[in-house]
Amino acid sequence: SALQHYSQCLKGNVLQSGPRQPLPISTQDLCHAIDCEHIDVHYQPKVDIRTGLVRGMEVLARWTHPSLGRIPPDQFIALAEKEGLIFDLTLRVLRKSIRQAAAWVHMGFTPKLAINLSPLLLDNPGIVQEITSLVESSAISPSQVVLEITESAGVEHLGKAIAVLTRLRLKGFGLSIDDYGTGFSSMQQLARLPFSELKIDRSFVHGAHQRRNLGVILESALDMAKRLELVSVAEGIETMEDWRLLQRCGCAVGQGYLIARPMPAQDIPAWLRSHRA
Ligand code: C2E
Ligand code: CA
Ligand code: CA
Ligand code: CA
Repeated sequence: SALQHYSQCLKGNVLQSGPRQPLPISTQDLCHAIDCEHIDVHYQPKVDIRTGLVRGMEVLARWTHPSLGRIPPDQFIALAEKEGLIFDLTLRVLRKSIRQAAAWVHMGFTPKLAINLSPLLLDNPGIVQEITSLVESSAISPSQVVLEITESAGVEHLGKAIAVLTRLRLKGFGLSIDDYGTGFSSMQQLARLPFSELKIDRSFVHGAHQRRNLGVILESALDMAKRLELVSVAEGIETMEDWRLLQRCGCAVGQGYLIARPMPAQDIPAWLRSHRA
């Protein structure tokens, strides 16, 4: 029955997005970790759904606290945003991954890097110069970098954000609207901001073949991406069923545990070899 269906969905949602107990991390510890280069990064491949070819690598921050161990990124990113540390953290992540990309270029592998950018940074016009000069003095060009920005109602000054995003786009950076479908002002933002990629949130991807409602949302997001001439990306692909549905619906790029888990840079060459085979 419909009711059973909804109670199933509700259960699924609670399981997927139930709040984790926040760890007692201090601002001081995080500040120290950022200053001392203790923030590490992992890479997760984004692949072409038709050909399987690697299209990019998403850069995901990792932090192992000296006594608490692995801290989930959601938690330390939120803290960094709250405490004004997100600018520094982002530049460290960018510097580290750019250095890694130079090593990959040397090996004959030239990936696009996907960097997560907090919407809070869009209030800071200095971010354009910082990011541009870092990338322009590196082995890769802005066209090889996609900035993933979470769709959010939290952008205080949409006008300022539009100016910053437009300048980044004009420099040649790709702009991706991340976690699409979970924000509040999606339509308004999509119409006004110069995005090049639409990244559909994993809550509409995994299991969409079993749940009609998810499938409908997924298909209409893909249709919209196509009409707006945005590259469509699906995250959270965990099963062959997820993959096949996206293939049937014409999604361009996919990412998820089925393809590869986020991994340290040293594991990438072996993954590339096994993936090509
Ligand atoms: P996100 O940008 O949506 O990144 C994707 C998240 O989904 C990552 O979680 C990734 O490990 C996870 N994931 C990938 N494939 C699958 C899958 O098939 N199934 C499931 N269930 N999950 C999958 P992670 O690494 O824990 O990062 C969480 C969030 O933290 C990111 O979500 C992003 O919003 C934020 N984040 C991570 N690094 C940075 C960063 O350097 N800067 C900023 N501003 N945010 C970051
Ligand atoms: Ca992302
Ligand atoms: Ca995402
Ligand atoms: Ca997310």
